[in-house]
Amino acid sequence: MTIIDTPKQLPSVDRLVNTPFVQELVRKYGLALVTHCAQNVFMNVRQSVVAGKATNMAALVQSVLQEIERISLPSIRPVYNLTGTVLHTNLGRATLPESAIQAMVDVARGASTVEFNLETGKRGDRHKHAEALLCQLTGAEGALVVNNNAAAVLLTLNSLARRKEVLVSRGELIEIGGAFRMPDIMARASCKLVEVGTTNRTNEADFETAISPRTALIMKVHTSNFEIKGFTKSVLERELSRIAHRHNLPFVTDLGSGTLIDLQPYNLPYETTVMDALEFGADLVTFSGDKLLGGPQAGIIAGRRDLIEKLKRNPMTRAMRPDKVTLAALQAVLRLYTDSKRLVEELPTLRLLTRDLAEIEQLANRLVTILKDRLNQCEVSVAQTHSQVGSGALPINRLQSAALKITRPDLRRSGNSLNRLSKAFRELPIPVIGRISDDALWFDLRCLEDEKGFVENLHSLKVA
Ligand SMILES: *Cc1c(COP(=O)(O)O)cnc(C)c1O
Repeated sequence: MTIIDTPKQLPSVDRLVNTPFVQELVRKYGLALVTHCAQNVFMNVRQSVVAGKATNMAALVQSVLQEIERISLPSIRPVYNLTGTVLHTNLGRATLPESAIQAMVDVARGASTVEFNLETGKRGDRHKHAEALLCQLTGAEGALVVNNNAAAVLLTLNSLARRKEVLVSRGELIEIGGAFRMPDIMARASCKLVEVGTTNRTNEADFETAISPRTALIMKVHTSNFEIKGFTKSVLERELSRIAHRHNLPFVTDLGSGTLIDLQPYNLPYETTVMDALEFGADLVTFSGDKLLGGPQAGIIAGRRDLIEKLKRNPMTRAMRPDKVTLAALQAVLRLYTDSKRLVEELPTLRLLTRDLAEIEQLANRLVTILKDRLNQCEVSVAQTHSQVGSGALPINRLQSAALKITRPDLRRSGNSLNRLSKAFRELPIPVIGRISDDALWFDLRCLEDEKGFVENLHSLKVA
């Protein structure tokens, strides 16, 4: 095999593509993709040859094949979420129950009744699919589904308070990861934000004096991802709603996570339910579909019928409408809530959040020996850890869990080797995502249910 050590010796892309092996790739992947990948490879190889690194024809062909494999992999792929954060926004939040997955597949595969009324044979209402169940489950008069809770808040503000003022306690002017900042949303909804009180203390008189003829509504934002501690005071929702109603203003609560059931019987801390928020006097409540609810990405608005109708008439609603696949999944998830006995078994979010510690520890004990075998340079142990709910829900409270803890005793101070190790896990056919802290790589096993697949996946682990 001739060695190529000057750029002049590199073959043309055409010549490479015409070699028998690459021609086979062309038959399999098509000329356009193969040529594109060959060009990418040449760009890199030319540089490395100039830098003094020789290559040969076989290596070039091999690089083209690798580039094809790299480019053909979907960039959105399944992973094992062993970060310990159950609702991890970067990893797709809630995982869906089987019934919802089946419903999504069914409507994705062919035509469906997304906007078709089978009884009349005429056009139907897309918004009906989730509304009846949402009303039944929350006791609300009406409900509307949009693409996410950020859209729900934007739509609510724009529909009810355009060119007017919205009162929010200064302690609730939150930012949620991913550039959702309440003041910015207000501006884009064409509302004027009126900050009430101080960061740590807001009282009823502050709201009373802030109300003017330009006020359109009072808003309560669930401060889900942080807590202000110490010398604090906030106005109870019941009181806020009373103030709003005394002035004929709607009272809106952005719950963020919004759950439809009391989590305390499951040994989870109290989180305001949608029903509680309505009971406390909210005229509209907004919440996410893929946080504690455990469904697909969606934003749900529930509350007074006349206000929901007003939202539906806003042209923005058309720009935020959910697709058929989301609606099918959401309906299936909501249906699970009608049977509380099956719920905890069938809804992954609740099942994972309430998973028995002993079960997670047993899993850890089974996996620790397997991992020790694969990683003989490392120390692998079972360690106590705390999982988090994530997505801003139940921020302070943490769930006891068990993890595989991996350290490199020889390189204790070298974060670099841990980074390389965690990269090797990310390069698996199904990437495994953990977290690095305290000079160790941690795999919290709370969210690992597919033990067999996980072990098989580990066979491909390449560690130096
Ligand atoms: C998460 C959250 C949002 C944004 O919801 P998305 O569904 O991510 O758009 C808005 N408000 C609060 C209080 C939240 O916790």
